[in-house]
Amino acid sequence: MQDNATPENFDVVIVGRGPVGATLANLLGLCGVRTLVLEREARAYHLPRAVHFDDECMRVFQTIGLADAILPHVILSPGMLFLDADGRMLLDWSRPQTLTPMGWHLSYRFHQPELEDVLIGGLSRWPHVALRNRCDVFALDQDERGVRVRYEDLSNGKLTEVHAAYVIGCDGARSLVRRFIGSGMDDLGFHERWLVIDVLLKRARDDLGDYSLQHCDPARPATYVRGTGTRRRWEITVLPDEDSQEVAQPAKVWNLLSRWITPDDAEIERAAVYTFHSAIAQQWRNGRLLLAGDSAHQTPPFLGQGMCAGIRDAANLAWKLDAIIRGGASSELLDTYQSERLPHVREFIELAIRLGGLINTKAIEAGLAAGEPRENAPVKLEVKKPLLGPGLAPCDLPLAGDLAPQFELRDGSRSDDQVGYSHVLFVANAAALSLRPALVQTGLKILNSDDAPAIGDWLRKHDIIAALVRPDRYVRGTARNEAELDQLIAAIQPLACVPSAA
Ligand SMILES: Cc1cc2nc3c(=O)[nH]c(=O)nc-3n(C[C@H](O)[C@H](O)[C@H](O)COP(=O)(O)OP(=O)(O)OC[C@H]3O[C@@H](n4cnc5c(N)ncnc54)[C@H](O)[C@@H]3O)c2cc1C
Repeated sequence: MQDNATPENFDVVIVGRGPVGATLANLLGLCGVRTLVLEREARAYHLPRAVHFDDECMRVFQTIGLADAILPHVILSPGMLFLDADGRMLLDWSRPQTLTPMGWHLSYRFHQPELEDVLIGGLSRWPHVALRNRCDVFALDQDERGVRVRYEDLSNGKLTEVHAAYVIGCDGARSLVRRFIGSGMDDLGFHERWLVIDVLLKRARDDLGDYSLQHCDPARPATYVRGTGTRRRWEITVLPDEDSQEVAQPAKVWNLLSRWITPDDAEIERAAVYTFHSAIAQQWRNGRLLLAGDSAHQTPPFLGQGMCAGIRDAANLAWKLDAIIRGGASSELLDTYQSERLPHVREFIELAIRLGGLINTKAIEAGLAAGEPRENAPVKLEVKKPLLGPGLAPCDLPLAGDLAPQFELRDGSRSDDQVGYSHVLFVANAAALSLRPALVQTGLKILNSDDAPAIGDWLRKHDIIAALVRPDRYVRGTARNEAELDQLIAAIQPLACVPSAA
């Protein structure tokens, strides 16, 4: 071990700069938290992975000021259709092409390495955030004062140690941080090998279509996804007697693709066999060590929600870390992280498993039961976002655990841009607050019906006169009357206000 007289100190060390680590680092950068990101690899992961993210993720990217940089790399998705072996539609998961209450579209297609490049590029805006590539973390020792993080710089073999108040393991499915936390995994039962193939079209093949297609064919279940640009994706089940290496050889790949496409149409960009797992870590935190992203949960990709769940983890966690590190809040705040996030991600994973049962035709009825039956039409699927699990919001109040909408304000700006990564109080009647000086002292941002009539409409729809919304846009508390508004205000700690990145 190198003789480090005074190891560098950071508030937070993030292990791994995949999409979750990079998003978390941007959020902490926005907060002003001194952060070091340590990444084993020199560049972004080279094999095909995520192709879809949702409106809530885009809202997080908006928060970190990178939505405009991401938009040129995405296309809108019309949705996903599930077809039986004869091509008949079983389930219709079309997505509306209008903006959702999040202020973005419900479904974006993208290429994960391009998104990661934007997220990593965004880190250079924060002088207090450092990224060190080719640094392999191998040991973590924590005590009541902090965590000693030891890593090897793979470019020269040098061993280094740094100290941090908190370490976040965004280090993927085989997480080292999870091992140091000592957490086991709850296995949700889905494990299947799938061959994932990305091709680049050499000529137009508009007939392949823009919808994602799930071929629920008992002989060989398969997925088609239209990617961005000329990229097209097929995910094809690997049969039990097939060898993972052999099935990914070009001749075999073209043979499997021959139903849809030939070498005259496209070239293979990448082909790799993945085992899709469904698992959730039992313990997301041990003292100063925490997990986020694939280190905490893994899902089959049928809903396109694996990375999205990790982005939500980051948005839930960063403001809590900031409140503790810079705002003096109790570290007990971190106990709400797993309690809120785990039930939410579990619901998505369970739905992905149900849809997996429809695709592999092993549990067709259960899969179809996830949607709404219609007369003379395929079952219609609409995926409602789960609520946060128990945490900061009292469960008996309206909107507990739900996301607040993003409002377009009278001046043409959007509420998230005005609020930044901070708490905001939405109130129907601004005059009601003038008699509450305690509120002024908190420095809390306040928006009311005069800023956007839709704020009043939303509050009235839920029979409330005010809603306190957290930096991750989830409702922290609501008030149905003046007495509850007083309680809500009394409960507001001095809240760290973070500027907008827009
Ligand atoms: C075929 C496929 C399709 C998918 N489709 C979708 C989709 O459409 N939508 C979606 O939301 N999700 C999808 N996913 C899931 C998504 O790709 C993952 O959830 C996401 O990449 C997880 O991000 P992460 O940052 O948590 O982990 P990773 O991306 O795995 O990043 C972890 C990082 O940590 C680094 N690391 C690990 N250990 C150490 C260490 N000891 N020291 C330093 N660095 C370390 C690794 O090098 C890596 O860069 C898909 C996945 C697959 C396989």
